[in-house]
Amino acid sequence: LAGAGVRAIVVSVGDELLLGHAVDTNASWVSSRLARLGVRVQEHVTVGDQEEDIRTALMRCIRMADLVIVGGGLGPTPDDRTRAAVAGVTGVPLIEDVTILERLEERFRSGGFESLPPSNRRQALVPEGGEALSNALGTAAGLSLEVEGTWIVVLPGVPREFHAIFDGEVESRILNRFSGRLDPVQELRIHTTGISESVLCDDLERVLPADRGPVSVAYYPDLRGVTVVLTALGAEAAEGNRWLAHLGQAIDPVVSRYRYASKEGDLVEAVAVELLARGWTLAAAESCTGGLIAKRVTDRAGSSQYFLGGVVAYDDGIKVAQLGVPTDLLERHGAVSEEVACRMAEGVRQAFGADVGLGVTGIAGPGGGSADKPVGTVWYAVAIDGETRAEHRRFSGEREAVRERSAQACLALVHRMLPE
Ligand code: ATP
Ligand code: MG
Repeated sequence: LAGAGVRAIVVSVGDELLLGHAVDTNASWVSSRLARLGVRVQEHVTVGDQEEDIRTALMRCIRMADLVIVGGGLGPTPDDRTRAAVAGVTGVPLIEDVTILERLEERFRSGGFESLPPSNRRQALVPEGGEALSNALGTAAGLSLEVEGTWIVVLPGVPREFHAIFDGEVESRILNRFSGRLDPVQELRIHTTGISESVLCDDLERVLPADRGPVSVAYYPDLRGVTVVLTALGAEAAEGNRWLAHLGQAIDPVVSRYRYASKEGDLVEAVAVELLARGWTLAAAESCTGGLIAKRVTDRAGSSQYFLGGVVAYDDGIKVAQLGVPTDLLERHGAVSEEVACRMAEGVRQAFGADVGLGVTGIAGPGGGSADKPVGTVWYAVAIDGETRAEHRRFSGEREAVRERSAQACLALVHRMLPE
């Protein structure tokens, strides 16, 4: 079967997905992981919590796919029926896995329980002939089993557990099992921020050669920036890579000012790398973003190594009392001004003893705008040793868009001010 692609289907289980109470992030997450590995996902299937519905979906998938990734319904409660459905499809009994049982007992003992609740004991059941995939983050182990040549992997629905078991237990097995049949997407992803999609596109079209070989260029914009993706389709790996390198070089002069390096596409990742490389710390003074920058920075594990903290200086009194912004500066220039943004950045840098201070102040709307400072006007500044730099923008969009764009622009300025 060498060269034949691996067919995969992702099945998401849960009434909450069908009711619209939860968004199926697991399917998109795992699909992008699979694409990277060279597995083509041909379908996303979503079913409710009924055992029969899960069984019906699984039977169809087994006929059609080489790999089925099922997410959700492994919990201890009676509405979690994936385990039983999988066993039902394969016609094998559920057997208690001793290792999983011991791990569960240990987990509950160390959590202060005297014994394992009977409902959790059910989570040690594995279809006969299958294998448990250990879950360091939760009580639901994953399952792996083989049915008529199709490999079924079942993971808990909680996204971080789903991700952890996939990365820890599933990815390497996919590489082994399907080696020789994987067809990874050859692409070059360039994350940019601070330039609009249309301007970026026009500028790139000017520098890209007319002949792009097997490569197509796509633009993916969101509130934080634009990701440019160059994809080589249908080419031998070596040829595809040559084209990608060639075109990547051609566009570099245009994108270099706006690009940042990040695996997941988050600018915070690039800022973190820069700060860590210097052993520098960051502190944030936020008005219109209300802590959004602090939240984004601390969303990343390990941020305590470079993030000291922040002040949500929403009221002018707080800008004065906590950040040392002079009252007369506020009166003369207004809270949304270059002067105030700079003093906020310098003030928080000093107050926290940080290497880098940032300040952001703006009018997120819908109210509060004026003729010379319309809604969307934002001043932000970054202070490092011996230099404070400020920029202002007028962002379009609703309140949330203005806040999101402000946070990103401010982080981009931090990124640009950290010397290479
Ligand atoms: P647990 O042991 O935590 O109960 P489980 O396998 O039973 O694991 P579910 O009960 O299906 O998981 O879902 C647990 C949580 O994960 C719920 O909050 C649910 O909304 C969320 N979740 C389930 N499936 C998905 C999905 N496909 N994408 C995003 N979130 C999901
Ligand atoms: Mg569920």
